[in-house]
Amino acid sequence: MKHIGVYIHIPFCVKKCIYCDFVSYSKKENQIAPYIEAVLDEIEHMNMNDYIIDTIYIGGGTPSIIDAKYIDAIMNKLKKYAKREAEITIEINPGTITKQKLLVYKEAGINRISIGLQTTYDKILKEIR
Ligand code: SF4
Repeated sequence: MKHIGVYIHIPFCVKKCIYCDFVSYSKKENQIAPYIEAVLDEIEHMNMNDYIIDTIYIGGGTPSIIDAKYIDAIMNKLKKYAKREAEITIEINPGTITKQKLLVYKEAGINRISIGLQTTYDKILKEIR
C-alpha cells in the first residue's frame, strides 16, 4: 500500500483577480456540473485500491462557491480510501460560505478549512481585484 495525498482543484471563483495565476474562472456556472462529473469519472478510473490517502485538499479557485452537494459527491468517492485520521481540508471564502455548506462538509468528513485573505484593507482590495 502506498500513502498518498490527494489534491482536488475547483477552478471557479466569484471574480477573477488580476494578479492570480491559478487556473480559475468566473461566470462559468454552466461548467460546474460537467467539471465535477469529469472529476468523479477521473477518480473512478484510477485504481485507488493500491493506495491509502493520508490527506485530501480541496482547493481552487474557490471551492465554497459551488453547491455543497458536489463536494459531498467528491468526498463520497474518496473517503473510503482515506485513513481514519486523514487530514481533509477545503478552501473557503467567507463571502461564499453558509452554515448549511459547513454542515455538509463536516458530514462528508472534512475536518479543516483554509480561509484565503488577500488584504484587510478595502482600498487595496478594490485595486487588486
Ligand atoms: S479568489 Fe483566489 S483563486 Fe480566485 S481569482 Fe482571486 S486569487 Fe485567484
